[in-house]
Parts: sequence; C-alpha cells; structure tokens
Amino acid sequence: MSTNFHRAAHTRPQTHRADDQRLIGVFDENRRGPLIIMIGGIHGNEKAGLKALEYLIKMLEVEHITNEAFQFTGRLIAIRGNIQAQKVNKRYINRDLNRMFRNDLLQTVLTKEERTAEEKELVEIIDFIKNSIADYHPDEIFVLDLHTTTAAGGIFTIINDSPEALEISLDLKAPVIEGFLRGIKGTILHYLNADNVHQNCTALCFEAGQHEDPLSVNRCIAAAVNFLSSVGAVEKLHIEPRHHRILHEYAAGHPIHSRLIYTHKIVEGDQFRMEPGFQNFDPIHENQLLANDINGPIYAPSTGLIVMPHYQEQGEDGFFIVEPLSDKVIG
Ligand SMILES: [Zn+2]
Repeated sequence: MSTNFHRAAHTRPQTHRADDQRLIGVFDENRRGPLIIMIGGIHGNEKAGLKALEYLIKMLEVEHITNEAFQFTGRLIAIRGNIQAQKVNKRYINRDLNRMFRNDLLQTVLTKEERTAEEKELVEIIDFIKNSIADYHPDEIFVLDLHTTTAAGGIFTIINDSPEALEISLDLKAPVIEGFLRGIKGTILHYLNADNVHQNCTALCFEAGQHEDPLSVNRCIAAAVNFLSSVGAVEKLHIEPRHHRILHEYAAGHPIHSRLIYTHKIVEGDQFRMEPGFQNFDPIHENQLLANDINGPIYAPSTGLIVMPHYQEQGEDGFFIVEPLSDKVIG
C-alpha cells in the first residue's frame, strides 16, 4: 500500500467528530497549496460523482506505485452531499438541498430545534466546509461540485462570475455555460464566495451526463483529474491524455462557451410534462412546443439550445435555454 494512505489518514481534519459519513477521503502529501473540495451526490439520486470521488482518492493513493515522479500540492477533500437522500436514491427528501444554500434560510434553520432532512444536511455541509478551511488555512480554495442529469447527450460546466472559474472550466474540455446561477438561487456555488468563507473561492459545477449511464462515472473522474491539474495540484505532465479525450469526444459538436438566456420554473401542482426526446444541447427554435402543464402547451420563448430538460418527478426547473457566445465548438 502506498504510504500516502497513512499520511492522508494523519492529515484528515480532526474537527469533524460527528460527521464521518460526510467524508469520502482526504489526500494530502504535506506539500502546501490550494484547498480543493469536491462534492458528490448533493442530489441523492446522482451517484456517478460519489463513485468517481471514491475512485479518485484510491487512484491518488496508488499513483506513486506506477509513477515515482508524481507530486501532489495542496489538500483534496472529497465529501458526500445529501447523505439521507442518497440512502433512498432520491434527488431530495423534503426539499432540493441545492436550492437551500441561502444566508436568509440558513439563519432561520440555525434557530430551529427540529430540522428537516435537508436542513440538517445544509448545516452539516456548511459546518464541514468551514472546519476544513479553518483546519488548513489555505491561500486559495477551489470547489468542484459533481452532478448528472435526467436527459442524456451532453456534459457541461456551470460557473460563477469569477474570471478564474471561466479559465479553469475552459481547461476542463467541456462546454461552459455562463450566467446559469442567475437563473436559479441557493446552490452551493452561490454560497461559496468570499463573503461566506472569508477568502477567494473559485467554485464550479460539472454535469457529467445521464444519471444511470455508467460512463458518467468516467466523465466525473476525467473532470476531477483535469480540475486537479487546472488548479495546480497536479502537474499537467502527469495527467493521462485519456482524461481529456473522454470529455472531448463526448462533447464534440457542442459550443465551447455559451450563456443562459431562459429558465422555465416549475410551480408545485402545475403537472409539468416535457415533450419526449429532448437531449442536452438540442437546438430549438422560437415557438417550438417544448412541454405541457396545467395551463396548456409551453412554447420556446426564443431560439437556442435546450439544457437539462426535466424528465424526473422531483425538481423545480423545467428546462433551460442557452445561446452560444461564439461559433467555436468542441472537437
Ligand atoms: Zn444535480
């Protein structure tokens, strides 16, 4: 067994007594650098990210056996998102956890004696991240949040407004969508900013493809490995080209850089039903029939590309429309 395992075990943050289930693993070779936090399963039915992070930690632990020159700079902490929803393989129990990372909501939750499943998860995750930061005192923090979608056909990265996030995302070799966070509220990406964690924090979310597609795990691994090199934890020369290829091939033909132009919100009780057959990045035209609900047919308000068409029971977003920012496509 690689000695890193023992080092990793030693450097495991000591402050998280109550919440061992949260931690997938820590990797740290005592070379100071960025703190990298990777999260899987913030939606409980999205298991690919969890599997990928378990594999990534193991892969890092044995890397020295085949690659003596390998060096890791900084500390990687891989954590589980909505643990209670993961146990029942649902997106969430009471409420979408990845819409709850709001300071106003957190303040209310902190005053409650009895908390719902997601309220507990919210408090524990924020606590865990803050403890991890206090434990390491990093100069830089990078976060990668791994997801999958109900629809097939397309991987992409969602970023906040930091220029560094755009640079890193473009380096991952997956399409980047800007402005997504203006279409939704309360994701963990919204929360992880300088106001809340008191230092610069570059956070992005990677959508790896369809929930049940076994290759979504490979794409999460590829994105995570590329991310480690983009943020400077691992030198590029140690990254096998297959990790770039996996993402590049799957995203071929999709725009490198686009921005969100429309979000369709689902209101409880409106019986939203997407028209069948849409995949991520399918082109749509203005006035095309996209879905139906209790008020009748829903037509596209503009021409563009559809992203995350909603084919599951739980969730608040029906579909998103993006427009390419340039003619450049992947591949
Ligand atoms: Zn998700």
